Amino acid sequence: MKKKPEHAPSAYFNIVGNQLMVGDIPAGVLATQVGQTPFYAYDRSAITARVETLRARLPDEIGIHYAMKANPMPALVAHIATHVDGFDIASHGEMTVALDAGVDPAEISFAGPGKSDRELAAAVAAGITVNLESEGEARRIHEIGERLGIRPRVAVRVNPDFELKASGMKMAGGAKPFGVDAERVPALLEWIGERDLHFRGFHIFSGSQNLKPEALIEANNQTFDLAIRLAASAPSPVEWLNIGGGYGIPYFPGEKPLDLQPIADNLDARLPGVREALPEVEVVIELGRYLVGEAGVYLCEVIDKKVSRGKTFLVTNGGLHHHLAASGNFGQVIRKNYPVIHATNARGEPRETVSVVGPLCTPLDILADNVELPPAEPGDLIAVMQSGAYGFSASPHRFLSQPLPVEVLV
Ligand SMILES: *Cc1c(COP(=O)(O)O)cnc(C)c1O
Repeated sequence: MKKKPEHAPSAYFNIVGNQLMVGDIPAGVLATQVGQTPFYAYDRSAITARVETLRARLPDEIGIHYAMKANPMPALVAHIATHVDGFDIASHGEMTVALDAGVDPAEISFAGPGKSDRELAAAVAAGITVNLESEGEARRIHEIGERLGIRPRVAVRVNPDFELKASGMKMAGGAKPFGVDAERVPALLEWIGERDLHFRGFHIFSGSQNLKPEALIEANNQTFDLAIRLAASAPSPVEWLNIGGGYGIPYFPGEKPLDLQPIADNLDARLPGVREALPEVEVVIELGRYLVGEAGVYLCEVIDKKVSRGKTFLVTNGGLHHHLAASGNFGQVIRKNYPVIHATNARGEPRETVSVVGPLCTPLDILADNVELPPAEPGDLIAVMQSGAYGFSASPHRFLSQPLPVEVLV
């Protein structure tokens, strides 16, 4: 019989006795300290370890940027700011948190379609680099720069003529709201050259949640080729090249952690040629979930245990209103389970097959469907792992008017 695929083991969380440990604190003790369930807990030492491991693997000259939309919790942002080389933001709200955390504006870039004039002006005033998503945005930022008497720092976000294969989310190639189509970039570069704009370089982000090194390598190579080709039309030397990221983490049964070595080897091989073609360039990658996703857990409490026609349900106080992604409603085509652990009876026997659901009156409110867990009773804690990215901030908190979760950094 074929063995059922399993979740990859957690990279950072251990079980001691019967308790899931969160940064050296047993889950049950942490819940008491936090004072409520549900809550998200992020482990700062796990984040540090992830950034440092990545840095040791990648070529030294690659800058590591944090894509803040993965997790904008201010304390986490302040922590990661001391470990990464820069930030990529996608709203004025994120800009405020990054600046509050002490991030150097020169190391922040601002992407995202539909930036308002107010957002563009704020970015220009702060001196951060704006990744232009359209010709219209270029015109508007130019006018704003003239009005403020500040020379805007701009990069062109390119919608490439290729896509990142095998990605959880494709964000480039074909018709997209993101970036300027590659074939239109030369004309925009000429326009920029005729204006008082500080041209910095290119932003080419092609996709997200990718676990296939060969797909990431192919996209990196195509990105370098495209950037070098476009640089021929640039008004000044390319000083900055953001090659995107897309590094995935294992969420579902059968998925394995990304093998970084071939990606790093390819970057090593390509960088000398890139430097020859673009002598002033600083190359950066931008990563969100890869830096923080595995460093977070979502903990909720069992409220009721019930059996319906032979199927056992653990009804918890947590659910899709706090953790949309784990419920399967954040871009999944076929619903699969995130890894879940009985956080306060982690090694209990005998295990039973249960479905973990939330308190919302909708069949979409599932945290884990038909999983084997140690015996659970009301008052016990259930942990959803791999929850450090796209959890709290990517969930519809107001749905069904339930209480908010809290977030802690331990
Ligand atoms: C969402 C996004 C990211 C982060 O993606 P992850 O999968 O979290 O690494 C990076 N860059 C851009 C432009 C994005 O839109």
